Amino acid sequence: MKKILCILLFLCIGCARENKVQTIIEENDFLIGINYPVTAYKNLNNIIQTDVENIYTEFKKEKTLAIQQPELNIDYKLTEFESHISILLDIYISNITEKKPIHYVKTYFYDKEKQVILNITEILNQDSIAFIKNDLVKQKINIHYLNNYIKNLPFFVEKKQIHFYYNESVYNYSLEELNLKLTVKSNHKEIETFQPTNKVLDINKKYVAITFDDGPSIYTERILNTLKKHEVNATFFILGNKVSAYQDLLIQSLKNGNVIGNHSYNHKWLIKLKDNEIKNQIEKTNEEIQKYTGYTPTLLRPTYGSLNTYLKHFPNMEVVLWTVDTMDWKYKNTNVIVKRATNHLKDGDIILMHDIYKSTANSLDKIITEIKKQGFEIVTVLELKEIQKLRKYE
Ligand code: ZN
Repeated sequence: MKKILCILLFLCIGCARENKVQTIIEENDFLIGINYPVTAYKNLNNIIQTDVENIYTEFKKEKTLAIQQPELNIDYKLTEFESHISILLDIYISNITEKKPIHYVKTYFYDKEKQVILNITEILNQDSIAFIKNDLVKQKINIHYLNNYIKNLPFFVEKKQIHFYYNESVYNYSLEELNLKLTVKSNHKEIETFQPTNKVLDINKKYVAITFDDGPSIYTERILNTLKKHEVNATFFILGNKVSAYQDLLIQSLKNGNVIGNHSYNHKWLIKLKDNEIKNQIEKTNEEIQKYTGYTPTLLRPTYGSLNTYLKHFPNMEVVLWTVDTMDWKYKNTNVIVKRATNHLKDGDIILMHDIYKSTANSLDKIITEIKKQGFEIVTVLELKEIQKLRKYE
């Protein structure tokens, strides 16, 4: 009986086709922060990926016209129903030629069974179409547009609501009033409470902390395994918009003794936002982490390492930058990353890496071995701070 149960369990893990997130972060004379979902449906993924690639290429072409450091940010939202997936890409471009940032959405409503993307006229009945057309005309949407292009009207469906996007405005309807019946795919999991394990910290030893930004990703699991193999822990500064997709991994990470910190919701360049927008980025991320793992972060790493007064004094959050930059996003070469991470290490160093690259995941084993060889203990950023406090009061 036990054997059958084991096999069934194994099969179930194999068939859990969960949505993942692809992240692209680049920092040069321009800033790029892109997050888009990777679902269990290949042709949907191809369509989204092609769209993202086009936006990326176009941005890189236009950035030469920029006056200031331009920024491209793509965020996403996803609702999975039993029968469909609704996805929204939120595209934000600043500092190209226009003074005002460009902001628009792209949406996808995918029929899982037919494996096609549907437009709004293929989902709603005639009466509902007539109803929204009427209503949208009242709200000053061009009737010519509605008659000819309603098929192109972007829309995103949530559990109880549907949102239409036109000229930077959003129009909301309940699914009920449009007679749209969809069942959200449930992935509710029990949340456990984490008791942080207290390591014995000897203030006379030498300590360094390894940190990872921009994750989680498909490479994070490998990183967790390597950390576990060496019985050390790291600190992960994660993006809020990826939490729900990587819930299990994050719980595992916390259980292993790692620390999770806040790296904004969607990697927008925080110092360029208004204070209330920064607040929203940080709080939304903490809420997601709290909701899916039960853990509330206290460490904050601002995007692109840029700080302002508001961020420095953000309540209940301690800002953490780094002292060793591996530039793993640029070098993507194991030997280079190992060297950059371990040459010239000193007590109290915080090493910056990113768990969204295969080359980084591949380097970790050698990095840990080398750090230990040099006589350092590897701890989390929280432990590093604890050691600093202990030394102060010695
Ligand atoms: Zn980052």
